[in-house]
Amino acid sequence: MKKTATRILAAALLIFIIDWGVMGIKIIENDYNITVESYIGAACFVVIAVCCFCRIFGNKCPHCGKIRITDGDYCSYCGKKIEK
Ligand SMILES: [Zn+2]
Repeated sequence: MKKTATRILAAALLIFIIDWGVMGIKIIENDYNITVESYIGAACFVVIAVCCFCRIFGNKCPHCGKIRITDGDYCSYCGKKIEK
């Protein structure tokens, strides 16, 4: 589940960057017909936000219940080992 979220996040980020690149090139070339690109960018932004949300709030310590920011083997709050 977490790996899937990370893959989707990476893919969405990649599309987001490419999309912004395309938009930038179009604006430089005075082509302001970027409706499709802006929709793709907005969709990617939503996907990225949802994935970040899932990653942050789906990463709770099973011992103390606090949200872990790092992905280490030990909880940074209670110091107990996290079983994967
Ligand atoms: Zn803990």
